[in-house]
Amino acid sequence: MDVYELIKKKRDGLELSAEEIDFLVSGFVDGRIPDYQMTAFLMAVYFKGMSLRESCDLTTAMAASGETVDLSKIEGFNIDKHSTGGVGDTTTLVLAPLVAASGGIVAKMSGRELGHTGGTVDKLESIPGLQVELSKDKFVDIVNNIHVSVIAQTARLAPADKKIYALRNVTATVDSIPLIASSIMSKKLAAGADGIVLDVKTGAGAFMQKYEDAVELAKTMVHIGQCAGKKVEALITGMEQPLGNAIGNAVEIQEAIDTLKGNGPGDLVDLVLELGSVMLVVAGIESSSSAARRILEKNIARKKGLEKLGQLITAQGGNPEVIENTDLLPRPKTKIEIKAGTSGFIEKMDALEIGMASRLLGAGRKIKSDPIDLSIGIVLKKKAGDRVDKGQTLAVFYSDGDKQKIERAKAKFFNACTIGDREVKPPRLFYAKVTANTVEEFESS
Ligand code: URA
Ligand code: CA
Repeated sequence: MDVYELIKKKRDGLELSAEEIDFLVSGFVDGRIPDYQMTAFLMAVYFKGMSLRESCDLTTAMAASGETVDLSKIEGFNIDKHSTGGVGDTTTLVLAPLVAASGGIVAKMSGRELGHTGGTVDKLESIPGLQVELSKDKFVDIVNNIHVSVIAQTARLAPADKKIYALRNVTATVDSIPLIASSIMSKKLAAGADGIVLDVKTGAGAFMQKYEDAVELAKTMVHIGQCAGKKVEALITGMEQPLGNAIGNAVEIQEAIDTLKGNGPGDLVDLVLELGSVMLVVAGIESSSSAARRILEKNIARKKGLEKLGQLITAQGGNPEVIENTDLLPRPKTKIEIKAGTSGFIEKMDALEIGMASRLLGAGRKIKSDPIDLSIGIVLKKKAGDRVDKGQTLAVFYSDGDKQKIERAKAKFFNACTIGDREVKPPRLFYAKVTANTVEEFESS
């Protein structure tokens, strides 16, 4: 096979065979195909797209490029969840233990992405002693014992994705639906789950800002899952403002604990119940989402999800006392109250801008090697739709005391938060559910 001919074929809008796609992926990982040829190929995909069949073949080739996790030793149906990323998205920290407490098996590998805050495993590392770098054997062992574990994805998982993503990131080829879908799904397939529930975000703070693009991405990922023999369903959910009140690392652990104690913010609780019920139905544990929802609600009320979180912390070497004593979490040097300059209604709390404010404070990374201060973050006291009086606290910054960082984050924050005279409804959270054959749009409430 000739790389030149394959680039030309895609440039001319023709379909590549599975063998041709495999040749490109394995050649690139081996170093036989240089960056400039792969870049040209990716740019051709950006402009000409890929058929669903090609997207499936690309995903399979990337998933097979490195280590894969064999969960077949775990008895029962393994259900995973993936979010396309938002601001202050605390859901996994609540969902994984809650679904496990409700009969599901959740063996989850998660990333340390670049972002406004750390990724899920960074957040988990705020728990004293807790280990996220565990061997595959230990991981499988924990899941067998307590039906849940969340660990860091290793560099050996789907290395083709790592290498291709690094190239896309510097050649303006990230926003291509077949490339995003295959990137996400290759890691999910390599991680070995039997079923996957996707939370595809849309809105200001999302990767896919437009609803139509989010639906297209969801359909592509559901299709890829189906052709790989996995049960996959997706929810399209809103990311206009941060999810819940906490944006950061330790502050999001605190929020997850509060939520499992029954004191969670409304939007986070709603999303957890909706995603969790889809997970339980996909896993075949409950037959209807209303029954699944009742089980999840009961397990929050009876503290069964909280108990499961305690088991997870203990199994991964952490101190479970953190659940009753959240003072054991990393604490910031200083807390600063950010107050409203005028009275009115909060029209907007722009997720992306708030996310940038939290990064400016020091809660996230700009480059992979950046350290994160896990104690830093933002806790919102008001959200879109709320009434506020002049001088009332809008948010609390958890900070390391660096004045320059605080000033920059404040400027971003005030940019993100618009106060007006009109009463407004909070932004929409649920848009649609995407399954193999259907897109079921929800009524806007
Ligand atoms: N997240 C991923 O894992 N891959 C992409 O291409 C985009 C978002
Ligand atoms: Ca949150």
